[in-house]
Amino acid sequence: MLCFIIFLRTKNQTMSVLKSNIPEGPLKDKWTNHKNNINLVNPANKRNIDIIVVGTGLAGGSAAASLAEMGYNVKSFCYQDSPRRAHSIAAQGGINASKNYQNDGDSDYRLFYDTVKGGDYRSRESNVYRLAEVSGNIIDQCVAQGVPFGRDYGGLLDNRSFGGVLVSRTFYAKGQTGQQLLLGAYSAMNRQIGKGKIKMYNRHEMVELVKVDGKARGIIARNLETGELERHSAHAVVIATGGYGNVFFLSTNAMGSNATAAWKIHKKGAFFANPCYTQIHPTCIPRSGEHQSKLTLMSESLRNDGRIWVPKNMDDVKAIREGKVKPTEISEENRDYYLERRYPAFGNLVPRDVASRAAKERCDAGYGVNQTGEAVYLDFASAIQRYGKQEAAIARIENPSTEKIIELGAAVIESKYGNLFQMYEKIVAENPYKTPMMIYPAVHYTMGGVWVDYNLMTTVDGCYCIGEANFSDHGANRLGASALMQGLADGYFVLPYTIGDYLSNEIRTGNISTESKEFENAEKEVSDRIDKLMNIKGTKSVDHFHKLLGKAMWEYVGMARNEAGLKKAMSEIKQIRTDFWSDVKIPGDKNSLNPELEKAGRVADFLELGELFAKDALQRNESCGGHFREESVELDGEQKGEAKRNDNDFAYVAAWEHKGDPSDAVMHKEELEFNDIELKQRSYK
Ligand SMILES: Cc1cc2nc3c(=O)[nH]c(=O)nc-3n(C[C@H](O)[C@H](O)[C@H](O)COP(=O)(O)OP(=O)(O)OC[C@H]3O[C@@H](n4cnc5c(N)ncnc54)[C@H](O)[C@@H]3O)c2cc1C
Repeated sequence: MLCFIIFLRTKNQTMSVLKSNIPEGPLKDKWTNHKNNINLVNPANKRNIDIIVVGTGLAGGSAAASLAEMGYNVKSFCYQDSPRRAHSIAAQGGINASKNYQNDGDSDYRLFYDTVKGGDYRSRESNVYRLAEVSGNIIDQCVAQGVPFGRDYGGLLDNRSFGGVLVSRTFYAKGQTGQQLLLGAYSAMNRQIGKGKIKMYNRHEMVELVKVDGKARGIIARNLETGELERHSAHAVVIATGGYGNVFFLSTNAMGSNATAAWKIHKKGAFFANPCYTQIHPTCIPRSGEHQSKLTLMSESLRNDGRIWVPKNMDDVKAIREGKVKPTEISEENRDYYLERRYPAFGNLVPRDVASRAAKERCDAGYGVNQTGEAVYLDFASAIQRYGKQEAAIARIENPSTEKIIELGAAVIESKYGNLFQMYEKIVAENPYKTPMMIYPAVHYTMGGVWVDYNLMTTVDGCYCIGEANFSDHGANRLGASALMQGLADGYFVLPYTIGDYLSNEIRTGNISTESKEFENAEKEVSDRIDKLMNIKGTKSVDHFHKLLGKAMWEYVGMARNEAGLKKAMSEIKQIRTDFWSDVKIPGDKNSLNPELEKAGRVADFLELGELFAKDALQRNESCGGHFREESVELDGEQKGEAKRNDNDFAYVAAWEHKGDPSDAVMHKEELEFNDIELKQRSYK
């Protein structure tokens, strides 16, 4: 179905045409039919076609390796000193696939269903079904590469459960799944680097998109070591530059994660979809004070075995905060396992948005267990007991002592989550085998991103966007272990097919010169921007402004949002942006390694994106997934107090077109059609 959506002109919404290019036919046949009918590029022609891939995380790394393997010439860019250091390396818990190895009823349809439901019915059915369909291939591909997924005693691939689902479909490599998958993609890339099919540009940052006759034809990249601006041309440009959670300053993302590439293409015509959809992850190490620059995730996999609670009585809360009582001294009947209480069906494995809001609700009510009042417990004592007894039975130990049970149980927990426990102990200086972890929600992932059609092409011809950087598959809330799945699906199994359709029309284009007016202008644009930043010579550091932005975002655009707060955020962010451009101080010079200059460019983009983010949240006057509007709450019945979605008015993707100032951006709607899934109230009770 070629989806044309036409709208009338209002203040922020104009006549628009968004072509999502969803293929015709039944849902389960769409992808197969599409692949069968897609135009192909013959091998001899592939050798004459260049593709730029910006980003070497799981999305970009897998795409670059696959495209080069197919015969295209790939130019690959990342700002780190090695592709291997992309943020994807941080992913801990696992990757979903509908293999049904546990024989617990899983199927492509169930993975599709869980993902659409988990995303609160704000994602495109066709994309999500395709994702589920190719999920199994990803595991096969990675196993073939040698990724050491966790295995059970018999040597078969093991699975664990993640939030929002009732099956076990998450493949994992201890708490280092991202690292192992990235090593797989990196080795596939390296094979092509060795063959000369991928030219790797480490320590290069894409700072502008170059368009020629409306098509993406290249980029301007800054060599971060020399400061030199370089022109690179190609027949297509793929953006795989990750998410923008660092717009909040504090997040679980890598310190370098940024929105610059996505924002630059947005300013050159790529629509930006659903910027307000952010995932706040419930299990992160709580903030410790004002001078912190990074938050640390404790993987969701821990909720398989950890139970979340706060004390029932305020006296116990006070005693804990004053250090008079230890959490282990609070009796079972005086603990409030609030997720198990409120959501008996899913318990501690409710989706992230639900778990985060429930933690906030308890802490707002005064039950937070640390000094800042922003922490709840994640407790492994009962899992240690359960596993300990099981292990004792297996070892035929009769009447094992309590100590023996704890020893055996702790060993099981260590084998499952050892590196996470070690990380927690190193940061908090408490032993989580002996005392419950403290956790609190933190910004973790952005479901919003560059709008793409079914082929993953943006609204700029020849410019594609994959992985976390695009908006595609997760709707208003991403389920755990599905980002790695999406990034690798895009890079290994979707883009390599769909890009051929576009490139089949490029076989006669020939080499693209970088000496054109368009490249010259784009380079000058970048050079002027850098000069402007360097010449401000103000008094405040880049971080000063980034922190202010983060505070405004967290306060007004964080876990709960309302109209007044969002309007305030928009005006505050505008002011911070004005102040930044008149008072930022960037030491050093532009012609050498200058991390402050790098940061300044990124924060300048965050300061624009932040405002659009708030504007998007303001127009979406419904609660859905990670976007909770205080004005839109269930008032009665079993769901009282839960988020209230409004399908009549908001079942659409909001795709924003750049028009200068972020406040002038124009919204285009892609109406979401649900033909194979019934829109229901999301209940995990
Ligand atoms: C702590 C943590 C744990 C997680 N655990 C899981 C998990 O268990 N399971 C799961 O499914 N998901 C998990 N996620 C989410 C998942 O890791 C990410 O969504 C995913 O790895 C993003 O991959 P990506 O390839 O899209 O981008 P990234 O891995 O962020 O890669 C971005 C790449 O783009 C490059 N880049 C960016 N901007 C530029 C530029 N302007 N010029 C040049 N290069 C640029 C970078 O150098 C990098 O190579 C986790 C996330 C975090 C923060």
